[in-house]
Amino acid sequence: MREKLASVLFGGSCFLCRGGARALLCAQCDADLPRLGHALCPRCALESPDGAVCGRCLTHSPAYDATCAALSYAFPADALVHALKFRGELALAPLLAGFLAPKVRAARIDHMVPVPLSAERLRSRGYNQAVEIARHLRKEALELALCERTRDAPPQIELPYDERQRNVRGAFRCTRSLDGARIAVVDDVMTTGATLDEIARTLKAAGAVHVENWVVARTFR
Ligand SMILES: [Zn+2]
Ligand SMILES: [Zn+2]
Repeated sequence: MREKLASVLFGGSCFLCRGGARALLCAQCDADLPRLGHALCPRCALESPDGAVCGRCLTHSPAYDATCAALSYAFPADALVHALKFRGELALAPLLAGFLAPKVRAARIDHMVPVPLSAERLRSRGYNQAVEIARHLRKEALELALCERTRDAPPQIELPYDERQRNVRGAFRCTRSLDGARIAVVDDVMTTGATLDEIARTLKAAGAVHVENWVVARTFR
């Protein structure tokens, strides 16, 4: 059924290479996706030889407790993420969520929070890609109003790391008490982690005891 729907939407051609396909991606493009393995820091999902907590997380502990990432933010995964985020290709949301879903299925969480956009950004884009991905993960735990973005920070991509942290400080607000709750925060891409760190700090200040990130793609230096 899903394959049938995909072939109606995409006319039987692969979203990436336009070759013949029975799903959104042909078998070759699917095989080319940079899937992440297990030698990652459980806290920040960057490379770590034995899958141990990395040195950076040990010296500067982030506010989040864990990160689960499905893909490396490299070609062709970056093209898919970009198309969902900037070109309105919402049919890619279930595909991208599908890479993450098996990895988070057993996670013990009370609420799932997509990284919020500001009201202004949401109006101009028309949708929040993190919400679209989250809808296909743990729908029963989805909370759209639990965490709000209070202001738009300048785009993070233009800033060096320590400025990114200052840039997002105080940019989020929790709308209710989260006493003892375990939270998953969903986003499309994790780059420095500054935004996710600030959200985790906000959630924990509201009483959350555990915050983990669920991201489709992770940027590696
Ligand atoms: Zn293809
Ligand atoms: Zn780490």
